Amino acid sequence: MRPDPSTTQRAAALRSLLSRAQHEYYVLDRPTMSDVDYDTLFRELQAIEREHPTLQTADSPTRRVGAPVQSAFRTRRHLVRMLSLDNAFDDAELGAFEQSVERVVGDAVHRQGYTVELKIDGAAIALTYRDGVLEAGTTRGDGTEGEDVTANIRTIGCIPLRLLGEAAPALMEIRGEVYMPFAGFEQMNETRVAAGEPVFVNPRNAAAGALRQLDPSITAQRPLRFFGYAAVLPDGTAPAKTQWELLDQLDLWGVPVAPHRARCRTMGEVATWAQTVEHETRAQLGFAIDGGVVKLNDMALQDELGIRSDRTPRWAIARKFAPDMAVTRLQRIDVSVGRTGVLTPFAVLEPVDVGGATVTYASLHNADQIAKKDLREGDYVQVVRAGDVIPYVLGPVPERRTGSETAWTMPTQCPRCDRAVQRYGDDVATYCANVACPGRLLEGLVHFASKDALDIDGLSYARIQQLLEAGLIHDVADLFDVTAAQLQALDRFGQKSADSLVAAIAAAKQQPLSRLLFGLGIRHVGAQAAQLLAKQFGHLDAIIAATPEQLGAVRGIGDIIASSVATYCADPTSRALIERLRARGVRFDEPNAVQADGPLTGATVVLTGSLSTLSRGDASALIEAAGGRVTSSVSRKTTFVVAGEEAGSKLEKAVELGIEVIDEAELIRRTRRPGG
Ligand SMILES: [Zn+2]
Repeated sequence: MRPDPSTTQRAAALRSLLSRAQHEYYVLDRPTMSDVDYDTLFRELQAIEREHPTLQTADSPTRRVGAPVQSAFRTRRHLVRMLSLDNAFDDAELGAFEQSVERVVGDAVHRQGYTVELKIDGAAIALTYRDGVLEAGTTRGDGTEGEDVTANIRTIGCIPLRLLGEAAPALMEIRGEVYMPFAGFEQMNETRVAAGEPVFVNPRNAAAGALRQLDPSITAQRPLRFFGYAAVLPDGTAPAKTQWELLDQLDLWGVPVAPHRARCRTMGEVATWAQTVEHETRAQLGFAIDGGVVKLNDMALQDELGIRSDRTPRWAIARKFAPDMAVTRLQRIDVSVGRTGVLTPFAVLEPVDVGGATVTYASLHNADQIAKKDLREGDYVQVVRAGDVIPYVLGPVPERRTGSETAWTMPTQCPRCDRAVQRYGDDVATYCANVACPGRLLEGLVHFASKDALDIDGLSYARIQQLLEAGLIHDVADLFDVTAAQLQALDRFGQKSADSLVAAIAAAKQQPLSRLLFGLGIRHVGAQAAQLLAKQFGHLDAIIAATPEQLGAVRGIGDIIASSVATYCADPTSRALIERLRARGVRFDEPNAVQADGPLTGATVVLTGSLSTLSRGDASALIEAAGGRVTSSVSRKTTFVVAGEEAGSKLEKAVELGIEVIDEAELIRRTRRPGG
């Protein structure tokens, strides 16, 4: 049948629309089309091309499995072509798939049935193992060749560098999905907000972006995980007779396999499994899935069925789930005040059901994000909810605007204390700088008492509100002055609860410095940074005395955190608070701290050239014993360079950056302890 002109035109329009969307998604990391719209249009084009094969052009988006290869990475050919899956959006389409399978293989399908697996919403990766050792990691690319991202893949802890057991084939490609769990994703975005960097739209984009980082040390900081789902040998066969055995084998090799897989005899069983996963399991997973994958279990039957011309296998199908996304009206944008004074805008929505839960509020991160997304009060917006993550607004639906929507700007006054708000430098956040702001006080006290800070049992949000309202406390130091008699005079306090709260507060004085430092709520200082600083400096007084450079020289502490700590310590109000905590007997030191008072505490040292009396190892030990740290490359963070004979490029770099260069004798002098 010859296609009519309108079909030809429609196919051309779809091709260009989808090509642009693919480019935005894969190359620019800036998708503008929703996944749902993309899938719908993609399927429409696929249907036209199947009906009219003459309309399928070589450059059709349906001919491409994934991202075009980028020049920044070397390309690497896949052992065997990577396929993509056809989709089923409902049970009827699953039924059609079953019929198409049975038409070819008949009753044989019932011997081994089907396997069903979670469809992880991440980035597809092929891992090459030679004699059981990880040789390369390659992105899907165009399906034939992808980008060689081996250095980044190696940073993902759960991917085995060597397969367990003895039975690994000489050469094999294990395929699977790299993903980012929700918890890590949210934490990473919070850090990015704090550092003034743009947030990632969803865990999949974050995972794909991390894989294509040019600097593997950045990838290493991203909380990436991997699930394997296939393995192929050079001849195109799999190292197992069934898909189920293959998954078992991957597990034995130490390759993570997604949970909740099952074997089903009929498509009815598959539909039931999909129903349970979509409506019950999905919310508990902790990572994103966008469906289930159904595969004919018997590999021999898979071969019999083969693949279609558009590179989709006839023996597998993806049962897609409804996205955890809905469209609703953004009634208004409100602002909350956090403990560090950060003003966080959030969306107040017309209540809407998203993935089984009613959503009324959603995070908007900061004013720049709102401007970037062009969100206006009154807009219809796309709301995403994934697992336990706080729902967030993906963006507006501009087509539904009526003209009555109003642009939003950050208030110029704090909504809790009416003081003028501030922005610092390039920081994207807006702050209430009033340390006595009631909004900040409440959140600050809640943070001080929280589990990772001083962990004060029984000091709940409601209790803190009560103490603040009664005028018993005005800052965290006041907590230690509260008496049981004062508490008993308040509502909902008996003698027992009053005594135990006072005892819990008193016990918190013995918490180590790392918890206190985190509890103080210094901007950008998370639990991990607090631990690093406490371990390195050992005592709060040493941190107060340190310069921003010395603080920033601690591994894991960046310039933003260092300058924030220094600013906090230099502030008269915080210094007064610290003295009041000291007077109340709060512990200021850290057990197991490293060289708290060494002559090189906080220093970063680079060794280069050959030393005459000391070995490299001895010199390093000397520096570390004095509290310093030895690193391999010279940067602006280097305190000084020790140069021996025939020092090369590192010496040049030090001179270029104006870093101090000393010799061995001077090093020995500097590492001597005072009086020692
Ligand atoms: Zn305020």
